[in-house]
Amino acid sequence: MELDSIEVHEQAVLVYLHATSLTARCPQCGTAGSRVHSRYQRTVADLAFGGRSLTLKLLVRKWICPEALCSQHIFAERFPALVQHYARMTDRLIKALQSTGVLTNGADAAQIASSFGMATTAKTIIRRVLQLSLPSEGSVHKVGIDEWAWKKGHHYGTILVDLEKRRVVQLLADRSVETSTAWLRTHPEIDLVSRDRGQIFREAATQGAPQAKQVVDRYHLQKNFADALEKFFRKQERVLKKAAEGSTGKARPAKRAAVPEQVAHERRARHRQRVRLHKRIWKLYRAGYHKEQIAQLVGVSSRSVYRVLEHETPPPPRRRSRSSSIVDPYLSYLASRWNQGCHNVARLYEEIVAQGYVGTRRTLELRLRPFRPKGARPVSKQTITWNQPPSPRGVALMMVRPTQSRTREQTAYLEHLVQSDSTIAVVFELAQDFGRLLRKHEGLVRLEQWKAAVRSSGIAELIAFVDGLADDAEAVANGYSMTWSNGMVEGFVNKVKWIKRSSYGQAGFPLLQRRVLLHPAARQGLSQEQRQRSFRQSASPASLETSGTGSPPMAIAAA
Ligand SMILES: [Zn+2]
Repeated sequence: MELDSIEVHEQAVLVYLHATSLTARCPQCGTAGSRVHSRYQRTVADLAFGGRSLTLKLLVRKWICPEALCSQHIFAERFPALVQHYARMTDRLIKALQSTGVLTNGADAAQIASSFGMATTAKTIIRRVLQLSLPSEGSVHKVGIDEWAWKKGHHYGTILVDLEKRRVVQLLADRSVETSTAWLRTHPEIDLVSRDRGQIFREAATQGAPQAKQVVDRYHLQKNFADALEKFFRKQERVLKKAAEGSTGKARPAKRAAVPEQVAHERRARHRQRVRLHKRIWKLYRAGYHKEQIAQLVGVSSRSVYRVLEHETPPPPRRRSRSSSIVDPYLSYLASRWNQGCHNVARLYEEIVAQGYVGTRRTLELRLRPFRPKGARPVSKQTITWNQPPSPRGVALMMVRPTQSRTREQTAYLEHLVQSDSTIAVVFELAQDFGRLLRKHEGLVRLEQWKAAVRSSGIAELIAFVDGLADDAEAVANGYSMTWSNGMVEGFVNKVKWIKRSSYGQAGFPLLQRRVLLHPAARQGLSQEQRQRSFRQSASPASLETSGTGSPPMAIAAA
């Protein structure tokens, strides 16, 4: 190509070019023509230049096909490395828009691209992302299968994770025996399926991968057991409360003072105001306003606008409770990362921002303070939020946890609880034993002993749990003796959740599928450091340029 001239305007740069080749091949018959018939100008949008939009004005030659029998008498020359035949955008611009669209929802991606001088719409971004092909699944030997919620309680999809490569292999649009079976059949190399105890995946694994060993993963066994414990404790709420009052820990149920009518009235008024604000912001957003514009129109910070747009339904009345920090929804995640040894606030901050945290780093730092004095000892989110008598669920989880990972408050509380009731003391012993069985893969003999102990305890909820194990005995037994588990799958299910949430419910399945499978965060086969790097890449505007130089979203994902 040769440059003819450049025009620089305030918002735009126009570059006039023409090709210099002496001949061109006919796209129909492949013969090289050397006679030019005519010329015309073609306009192609390219990556932005210095904050201005960049438009290529290509002077295209039409050639005469020398092959007399060719049906194509005249043909226009092509520029395969730069722009497709009929496209109005260069390949690299399309790739940049696709990368952005994989990393965030259509509306935000369009806004980001526009702010860099590549004006576009959400619709275009989404159409471009849908053109991306899905990454190849490769061969899978150990697969974890689980469900994810489209809409909690209504509609579920299926996620398949390669447990060895630690990455999402595929997302299926529904949760049915047929769909999962069909997918499993396309991978006859699978030798292990880790699943929950539900009927659907059990059947799918049996039909779709009869050659594979099935494992009921420990995460789900523990969850099922905790469910049984919770059922038991729901009937014991009075005992739970009493133990909290007597406990020497900080846990003291503050007597909730009755709210004066005046205060209650003001609270209701404030809630109505929040709902009005919510509706107004969503109305403007649906009308196509940018978030910054909405913030100005409504007179709130843009961060508030972002927060409102995270939920389509208006906020419920605020519960007067201790968990008022915006860090709280991430506490479980933070505690588990902390226990993995990541004590770096900057890194944790990056990680929860990627999950939708909108608070400051300082807030996070203050909130994490109670973790620090624990040193190497494992922490739990209760380390921070302990304040009132735990729920039946909370006690259930406390009991299956190993002794050393309980907080001092929890230990004190459990001591009181066990002393106050002899049946609970038995339940506590059984729960401890069960936890050990799972963690140490103690095997079948110990499992049978434990089951016998449960039966002789006479506690109905736990006996029902043990009876339930029998109909899936082999897979359950594998769960006790093998190291493969679905814990990782749970992590990916959470990622699907936040990608879905960041699309404000507008993502159809093919879009969600691409955003999950091509998103760097869904491909954790990477080392911690690589993951950090690809995260930074995806978080910084620089990714627009990186992809412009020829690395498509696929390459970013696999980098
Ligand atoms: Zn021809």
